[in-house]
Amino acid sequence: MKKLFIGGEWVAGAGNAVLPVICPSTGEVYDEVTRGTPQDIDCAVDAAAQALRGQWGRTTALQRGRWLTELSQEILKHRAELSQIEARDTGKPLTTAHNDVTILARYFEFYGAAADKVSGEVIPFESDYLVTLLREPLGITAHIIPWNYPAQMIGRSIAPALAMGNATVLKPAEDTCLSALYVADLAREIGLPDGAFNVVTGLGEEAGAALAQNSNIDFISFTGSNEVGTKIQAACARRPVKCVLELGGKSPQIVFADANIERAIPIILRAIVQNAGQTCTAGSRLLVQRSIYEGFVERIAQDFKKLQTGSYDMDLDCGPLMNGTQQLRVTNYIQEAKDSDIPVLAEGSIHPDAPKSGFYVAPIMFGPVEITAAIAREEVFGPVLSVIPFEDEQDAIRIANSTDYGLVAGIWTENGARQHRVARGIRAGQVFINSYGAGGGVELPFGGTKRSGHGREKGLLALEEVSSYKTLVNYYGE
Ligand code: ADP
Repeated sequence: MKKLFIGGEWVAGAGNAVLPVICPSTGEVYDEVTRGTPQDIDCAVDAAAQALRGQWGRTTALQRGRWLTELSQEILKHRAELSQIEARDTGKPLTTAHNDVTILARYFEFYGAAADKVSGEVIPFESDYLVTLLREPLGITAHIIPWNYPAQMIGRSIAPALAMGNATVLKPAEDTCLSALYVADLAREIGLPDGAFNVVTGLGEEAGAALAQNSNIDFISFTGSNEVGTKIQAACARRPVKCVLELGGKSPQIVFADANIERAIPIILRAIVQNAGQTCTAGSRLLVQRSIYEGFVERIAQDFKKLQTGSYDMDLDCGPLMNGTQQLRVTNYIQEAKDSDIPVLAEGSIHPDAPKSGFYVAPIMFGPVEITAAIAREEVFGPVLSVIPFEDEQDAIRIANSTDYGLVAGIWTENGARQHRVARGIRAGQVFINSYGAGGGVELPFGGTKRSGHGREKGLLALEEVSSYKTLVNYYGE
């Protein structure tokens, strides 16, 4: 049974309840984590407050950077074990988990190196005044993360907050707590000051809601569903505190007739089947210019049919979905599309050796899909690709912008002027041209427009979100 990490120590929760750790590849329970209570959340927030008043609050930016760098190195030293833990916990293929852990380490490396490069400004003002814009931590930052990329999300959310000198409380998703607890142990081993990083496992509506409503936190970073994101923002509005929300997407991949098809196809496929489609940046809509539609669809279908799904340790293209609820949700979307007579263009397969009790769904590609269909508008969060034909640039932009989301887009064309026209026309936080980066890209500011959320994570912009600015006005005349 795994305990909570509060104030630099492993502690039992205030309640006696536990949550099962279930392997999505087999459906079996193989461990337990603590079901943290609102009281545990209060303890973690108190520990963070104490850290800010104590050693952590007094530490220099240089020392913070060194701790984060050391944590990065420690994660890499334990990469094989942590990847195994992450893969079993999430169901993702081992190679994907290994990549995620590498990115986790990279977050701590990037923000460790950035910690002592952050500085304020001197602002020109009236004579005899020195005006300084100081950059300070916000204080106690809360981090509520989802189950799809737990390892990456820990780094993405926590590393910039610590680099700026905030004290953090992390609530991992109830389905996937193990990597967060492992990283907490590494943080303890390297001697990160007590209370700078706290982890409380538990249910969203219990521990998560208590964290979002805690009156002593100064900021929340949330990644997850629109439904819960709306609750988080409402909770923030009551105090009020600032929040960064990353709420998913329905990202288009736009293929023009002049695209380099052979380069595009493997990247387009990876962008939808990576993590079994459970990726907020999944390229789940494939927009193809009508003049090449038939030939392109035939070509991509050849590769799509070869996609295989299996358990995490079979290390195939796709793992299982996270749990039975997700499996049912995705299966319902597929059934609804079939019932609406949307043609199936290709289907991958579930490997015969995949345990029957796992939460598997074979990748599937539909087309042509009307833009009003649910699978063209809603975030399915599974390996379901909707192919949609378009006529010209304006039509491509219109379709790309036709959902409530605006997270990422991919544009495939060799025409430079068109690349820019289309990129400027699309509402999205990131646009990739002749490439696509689902996950990773630690250096690249990332976040949503429209219903995909607000605020930016990754890159140096993330540091702005977790900084407070103080204008210091000093009169030195007479
Ligand atoms: P998903 O649909 O991907 O499971 P959720 O939005 O339900 O996404 O969950 C994302 C994170 O938000 C998880 O850590 C979950 O425990 C947490 N969560 C769920 N409900 C709430 C809530 N009411 N308040 C705060 N956190 C919540």
